[in-house]
Amino acid sequence: MSSRISGIGMTSQRTRMRMIERLREQGIVDEAVLNVMNEIPRHIFVEEALASRAYEDIALPLGFGQTISQPYIVARMTELLTAGKPLGKVLEIGTGCGYQTAILARLATEVYSVERLQPLLAMARKNLRELRISNIRFKHADGHAGIPEAAPFDAILVTAAATHVPEVLKKQLAVGGRMVVPMGAREQHLCVIERTARGFSQARLDTVRFVPMLSGLS
Ligand code: SAH
Repeated sequence: MSSRISGIGMTSQRTRMRMIERLREQGIVDEAVLNVMNEIPRHIFVEEALASRAYEDIALPLGFGQTISQPYIVARMTELLTAGKPLGKVLEIGTGCGYQTAILARLATEVYSVERLQPLLAMARKNLRELRISNIRFKHADGHAGIPEAAPFDAILVTAAATHVPEVLKKQLAVGGRMVVPMGAREQHLCVIERTARGFSQARLDTVRFVPMLSGLS
């Protein structure tokens, strides 16, 4: 393993284990989620100057006005998405630096990840190649459309805030599948949408703060 991946001091495995202990204290109980978060080095996903803060429970800037979510939110959303079961085919909207993508890839058979900003997608590809995670297909596109040609998905995770229920994405859920999406403008909540044989159910959970889902490419 390269020394950049293994880390030292504030980027070491010990620091990461402390993050896991904190996540437990904050109420994360899914052992599979805690295990992968203990395994994936978060510090390689942030710029070098911020690496020593990678395991604090804070959101960090990614550049281009975007942020990598705080560890608790990544854990919470992943836990809601898996609901304690292994994931099959997953769609992620908002790749960013690829940290959440890496976590999903370890828990799923296959991950499709869509990002509208090309430089961030390039960064994510590089990070995941470095970690030798290969069950991910990236797409430079506006995630509002989902990926119809790869649907249906067993799970869909949106990591930017939507102002309306994403109907197009709902249609790409498999029966029995679920979507986790932050919804709202100034006031946002995590929403869990499930598709059953009879239709859809929707639940509104924690208050959150995400960058908005935007239209078009860049
Ligand atoms: N999961 C990311 C979080 C990134 S922040 C991480 O761990 O780093 C949200 C991301 O969603 C940003 O990268 C932003 O560019 C992207 N995004 C916003 N609107 C989008 C859209 N319509 N389609 C695809 N990506 C979008």
